Amino acid sequence: MKRFTSSFSTKQIPKKNDLVVSINESKKILFNKKEGSFVHNNLNSQLKDEVFEIFKLENNSVFLSGALTNITKEQAYLSKRELYPFLNEESLMIVSRAFQLFDWIYKQNYCSRTGNKLSEVRDDLSKFCDSCPREYYPKMSPCILVVLTHENEILLVRHNNEIRTLYTAIAGFADLGESLEECVEREVFEEVGLKIKNINYVGSQSWPFPNQLMMAFQAEAISKDVQIDANEILEASWFRSNDLPKIPPEPSLSNQLIKRAINSLI
Ligand SMILES: [Zn+2]
Repeated sequence: MKRFTSSFSTKQIPKKNDLVVSINESKKILFNKKEGSFVHNNLNSQLKDEVFEIFKLENNSVFLSGALTNITKEQAYLSKRELYPFLNEESLMIVSRAFQLFDWIYKQNYCSRTGNKLSEVRDDLSKFCDSCPREYYPKMSPCILVVLTHENEILLVRHNNEIRTLYTAIAGFADLGESLEECVEREVFEEVGLKIKNINYVGSQSWPFPNQLMMAFQAEAISKDVQIDANEILEASWFRSNDLPKIPPEPSLSNQLIKRAINSLI
């Protein structure tokens, strides 16, 4: 069970035993190399006016702050690329919520209809446009991952994107008006030309680059004859448990999904 519970308040004032997540103007997040943590003690009471409570723990809270002025030798601000190796399941939750709240609080300030400046963020995470009038909430993009099985093999693909060397699950964004199961069927057919059955939900994960809610599925392919969409996929191949290629690292949901699919093979 996770210790961190999502919470949001613009009015709470940080106390001495509260914790801090800090993101600077370049959207780099403060990391303590010695402790391996993105959450810091509120030691120097450096926190100024604009802080937001973003998690509750049993006896204290975690606050999101802008850049801190006095950081120690062990602390450094890390970019998206630099922070990847330090992610685990707990820190991913912290980083994901902090980054997405940072974007919502600081980067999305105008009404898309009128161009009017939105209100400050409120405790239910809404912002308000006076001239519409209309409430806005932060956006999240539902995205599916699916690994196909066929007898004693699983299908993995190499995507035509920034990480071309890894073999991973078929992935795609849910379309408007579509259920997740329909999305799974459509993405599989578009990317590898296969019909599937027995679609099973496996689990989910928040992914903050930029705002995906990843939902993982496993399904059975009716045949093995793949026909790839060369715009999206470089390669789609069937693998057995003893010849797995290089897959995405932990704590990514695709890693968990692929391992689970392998374990489910007959
Ligand atoms: Zn408006």
